[in-house]
Amino acid sequence: MYVARVLYPIEVLGPGKRVGIWFCGCPRRCKGCSNPELWDFQERYKTTPETVFEIIKSVSLNHTIDGFTITGGDPFYQPEELKRLLIMLKVISDDIIVYTGYTREELQPGDLKNISVLIDGEYIEELNDNSLVSFVPMPAVSEDGLIDCSDVKPYAEVKKGFTYFAEGDVLFAKITPCMENGKGAVAQGLSNGIGAGSTEFHVLRPIEGVSNPYWLYITTRFDSFRAEARKVMTGTGGQLRVPIGFLENYPISLPPISLQAEFEVIVQQSDKSKLIIEDTKNLVRRILNVYRSRF
Ligand code: SF4
Repeated sequence: MYVARVLYPIEVLGPGKRVGIWFCGCPRRCKGCSNPELWDFQERYKTTPETVFEIIKSVSLNHTIDGFTITGGDPFYQPEELKRLLIMLKVISDDIIVYTGYTREELQPGDLKNISVLIDGEYIEELNDNSLVSFVPMPAVSEDGLIDCSDVKPYAEVKKGFTYFAEGDVLFAKITPCMENGKGAVAQGLSNGIGAGSTEFHVLRPIEGVSNPYWLYITTRFDSFRAEARKVMTGTGGQLRVPIGFLENYPISLPPISLQAEFEVIVQQSDKSKLIIEDTKNLVRRILNVYRSRF
C-alpha cells in the first residue's frame, strides 16, 4: 500500500486528538484539491497496513488517541489495504472518519464496515463556502430572456433558502404574474458557474447531446405552453404557482441537437440586439432626466 503521512495530534479533522493518515493515489483530479501531490502512487511511500499500525501503536503507548481520520488521496483507491488497516485501528478507537471521492452509493455495504463517519463525494470547489456565486432574485430576470448575474455573494451566504442552478440551466418563473408575463432566461455568465436565486423559479436542466438550453427556453416562451401552465396553477390569495409536475410531464419536440445548436446562435444574436436596445433605452432615460432637471 501507499501512505504518505501519519501525523499525531491532528485537531482540525474531527473531535479530539486524532491520528491523521494520508493515503496516496486518486484518479479524480478535482479542481482545488488540497493534496494534489498525493494523486500518484510514489515508491517512497510504499508500506503495509501492518507497518502503519505499528507506528500508530507506538504513539498510543504514551498518548491518548481519540480517533482516526483517514484521507488522501482517496483511501478507497486502495480498498483491500484500507479494510485491513481499519480492522487494526478499531482495536485502539472505533472513532474512524474516512474521506473519499466516491459517493456512498458507489461503495459496497462491506466497504463501510468499521467506519464511523464517511465524508463522501467529489470535492466541488465552486461549492466551497468562500466561493463567489451569482445571486439572482426575481427582478434580475426580465420578461424577454435577459438575466443580470452581476450580484455576487459568497456561497455560504446563499446556500440555504434559495433555488440553485448552474451555467446553462433554464429558469422559469412559476408564480403569477411573473409566469404569465413570460419571465425566464437561460442562466449565463454566472460567477463560478453557480447561481442561487428566488425560490419562485423552476429550473430546467438540458441533457447533454439531447437538449439545448435555448431550445428549452423558447419552448417555455410559447403562448401555448404558458396557456397550459396557467390552467394548472394552484394556490390562494393571488399566490398562484405552476407545480413542478407540469414541467416534468409536458411533452416537447426535440429536433437533432445540431439543429438546436443552430437555433441557439440565432437566439443569442437576438439577445445581443435586445441588450443594445436596453442600453439605448437607458441612455435615452438618462438624457431625459438631465433635460428635465435643467428645464
Ligand atoms: S477526491 Fe479528494 S483527493 Fe481525490 S482529487 Fe478530489 S479532492 Fe483530491
